[in-house]
Amino acid sequence: MAEDKIDIKSLDYTQLQELLESMGEKKFRSKQLYEWIHKRLVLEFDEMTNLSKDMRKKLAGTCTIEGARIIKKQVSSDGTAKFLMRLSDGNTVESVLMKYKHGNSVCISTQVGCRMGCRFCASTVGGLIRSLKTSEMLDQIYEIQRTTGERVSNVILMGIGEPLDNYDNVVKFIRMLSDENGLNISQRNITLSTCGLVDRLKKLVDEKLTITIAISLHAPNDELRREMMPIANRYSINEIIDACRYYVDKTGRRITFEYSMVEGKNDSRECAMQLIELVRGLNCHINLIPLNPVEGRMGQRSKGADIQAFKLLLEKNHINVTIRREMGRDIDAACGQLRNKEKGGNYDEGIRKD
Ligand code: SF4
Repeated sequence: MAEDKIDIKSLDYTQLQELLESMGEKKFRSKQLYEWIHKRLVLEFDEMTNLSKDMRKKLAGTCTIEGARIIKKQVSSDGTAKFLMRLSDGNTVESVLMKYKHGNSVCISTQVGCRMGCRFCASTVGGLIRSLKTSEMLDQIYEIQRTTGERVSNVILMGIGEPLDNYDNVVKFIRMLSDENGLNISQRNITLSTCGLVDRLKKLVDEKLTITIAISLHAPNDELRREMMPIANRYSINEIIDACRYYVDKTGRRITFEYSMVEGKNDSRECAMQLIELVRGLNCHINLIPLNPVEGRMGQRSKGADIQAFKLLLEKNHINVTIRREMGRDIDAACGQLRNKEKGGNYDEGIRKD
């Protein structure tokens, strides 16, 4: 992205009004301009035909509407499509389009890499390079709509990166995605998944958004969680559960826990019992995820029978639980794998080879 130009796609409606005023343009133009960028998803100022030529020229001279561009697509036999997207500085991230009966969901990345270091995750290999701008998160959805013609109705922040480690841009992204002048995706259809940065989580609750929050829990006690997720050295499970109670009390909404099933690690009867005690009385839903093994990372997926037994035990104790339906297993489904592969390969000169 040209450094000296304004990243216009990251400006919310009010900021866009201020920009136009500073350029001596009428305020009502901001609605037209916002719609061109966030509803009609155009990539060139010249396509904005209801703006004067003079205004388009001025905008092109001072602003950029660059974002993310698809450079590779893998389609699974179940219709799930995974996209490798190149950002304007050459870095790459991944996004996934999943088709359900109730509509299309897109899972987006929020950072280039991740510094959380979860042992089972491919996205953290190589650490964090940088956080994404609001425009780069929006454009993952826009680019998929633009190129596939599919309308996106649900958005999940569960791709590469820890969303709450990019707090301000992510909150702005959620507000802009649900802006009635843009794609107007209901906040109820947006899910944010976090490994549990407790302070940021509480702050997020106070933003009064109506999104769904999913906590990557993966272990029912601190010792095991520390083995799987270094962030557990900073926040204990009890602190996370306290923050979840705060969320449920303040919003009246149910919280989701993600629990990746790793063979011989966290899939025992004892773990199930600990998990039941942990969430007892909390309005929650537990999503059991058969692990997607990543080469060189921790663990193999639990056996089907063990996952079923784990689920049954939770159900017997009146805990809402589902086993996540697997999408796109035949296409490097675990997040971060496609990007890692491309970095190792020689796909495109623009991709950073770090
Ligand atoms: S699971 Fe999420 S938070 Fe953990 S390393 Fe991977 S991307 Fe980061």
